[in-house]
Amino acid sequence: MAILEQTVDATYEKMLEKLRGVVPNFELRIKADLVQKINRVKAERNAVILGHNYMEPALFHTVPDHVGDSLELCRVATRTTADTIVFCGVQFMAETAKILNPEKTVLIPSDEAGCSLAESITASDVRSLRDAFPGVPIICYINTYADVKAECDACCTSSNAAAVVESFDADSVIFLPDEYLASNVAKETGKRILFPEQCKSGHGENGRLGQADAHDQTIIGWHGKCEVHERFTVEDVQNVRKQFPEVLVLAHPECSPEVVGVSDFSGSTSALIRRVRESDAEQYLLLTECCMGDNIAAENPEKDMLRLCSVRCPHMNQITLEDTLASLEQGRYEVTVPEDILLRARRSIDRMLAVQ
Ligand code: SF4
Repeated sequence: MAILEQTVDATYEKMLEKLRGVVPNFELRIKADLVQKINRVKAERNAVILGHNYMEPALFHTVPDHVGDSLELCRVATRTTADTIVFCGVQFMAETAKILNPEKTVLIPSDEAGCSLAESITASDVRSLRDAFPGVPIICYINTYADVKAECDACCTSSNAAAVVESFDADSVIFLPDEYLASNVAKETGKRILFPEQCKSGHGENGRLGQADAHDQTIIGWHGKCEVHERFTVEDVQNVRKQFPEVLVLAHPECSPEVVGVSDFSGSTSALIRRVRESDAEQYLLLTECCMGDNIAAENPEKDMLRLCSVRCPHMNQITLEDTLASLEQGRYEVTVPEDILLRARRSIDRMLAVQ
């Protein structure tokens, strides 16, 4: 993915070829200089850059050695021989790379790249759920911090959530923290969705899942939401369909079940990318983070990519080319995870990686 360039002009020409019409030319000129510097320092440090699909186009299409969704980048992180990993994504992703590579230096270009989902649940919340529902396996979405992963039995991404749920020989599982993803996975796996407070009100004593419920194929969810995907509405889809009746609507499963229900396809960021690549449709509406729409548009110039561009993740937006260069030059911000948490979180991640 990295551009092997001789001069800033050559870098600029390559970027222009890919990003013409997606990023203004004058911006590409400025960023070409940064890209060239980043690639030089990266080589000097024997570093690898991992870039999440939500990175802004001028970064996404230039400096990462690997791009992908959380699961793909996790897998890459287990194989790298670089001394330093720079994670162009948000904090929980960089933490995951550190958990998988405790002996390597892992850097994240900004210390302000959080996530509304990851912040919606704490390790103490998970311990309370474990007490309330003894014996019920707990699966957490990868969008959680290391101390939360450490309390869970497995983690998952949107690519493999249903497979991880089905890998447990249990009628009921707890699935945290995304309410919408839990509901969408419940539908996909033929389970019903309940929330802890519903279990308390008539589905068991003292908040425990009652015996009847335990045989009832239940996913117990949590009320976390992605502040980006929760903003898409059924009306958004209907309005676009009115204007463009042939449009193929693709939704990330962090969107509400109602939005997913009126869409043509739902899947992880990489599944959405593949769907656009493999489909013959001419027009697409992407219900996911806005920059990813730009990145797909850059790769599929012959296809029309509609996106609701007010929906940019403020956390992913913290990661810039400028900060990526500073990260490499100054070794900032180093990601650390206490050893006891790291070892327990690693078990959750390994349990997921073992699921094909
Ligand atoms: S897009 Fe949503 S889930 Fe992803 S980092 Fe941003 S807030 Fe978190």
